[in-house]
Amino acid sequence: MSNNLMNSEVWIGVGGNQGRPQQLVSDAILSLGDLHGVELLKQSSLYLTAPQDFVNQADFVNAVALISTSLTPMELLDELQMLEADYGRQRDKKRYGPRTIDLDVLLYADQIINTERLVVPHPRMHQRGFVLKPLAELNPELIIPGQGSVLELLSRCTEQRVSKL
Ligand code: AMP
Repeated sequence: MSNNLMNSEVWIGVGGNQGRPQQLVSDAILSLGDLHGVELLKQSSLYLTAPQDFVNQADFVNAVALISTSLTPMELLDELQMLEADYGRQRDKKRYGPRTIDLDVLLYADQIINTERLVVPHPRMHQRGFVLKPLAELNPELIIPGQGSVLELLSRCTEQRVSKL
């Protein structure tokens, strides 16, 4: 939780549709702030959102958080995946199917990362109302590199059902 000039600001997407998702998403955001080398700066409201890919499943609860971290992108991904495991996500389930908690690195400072394990900016975030709406609540002017501002991108996602809880 140290604060020094080497820290990077990172946007994290949080979602889930199993168990008690409102509680789990809120808890997962707080857990982010408990990670060594991570400080929780801001969190959005929770949003109830329609599933996007496999539509025949429960609605999701989604939110975004802004953290400051001294972790490298890969160290952060490791921590997020351990947190997902702690929250009981079963990795053999369908990619877009039910999950307890899903944590995505949306933006890591202004870095562009293209590795097998980690792609940043998150490759689908600019098309997802459930990411853009909570981002717009906290920073509508935020630019997704190569895509545009959160507000512009959100205006193209009108058909997606995303309502503030
Ligand atoms: P998902 O089931 O959609 O959460 O995808 C998890 C997989 O995506 C993991 O194998 C990660 O290594 C990979 N991945 C690639 N880019 C990212 C990212 N920006 N944030 C989180 N996971 C990512």
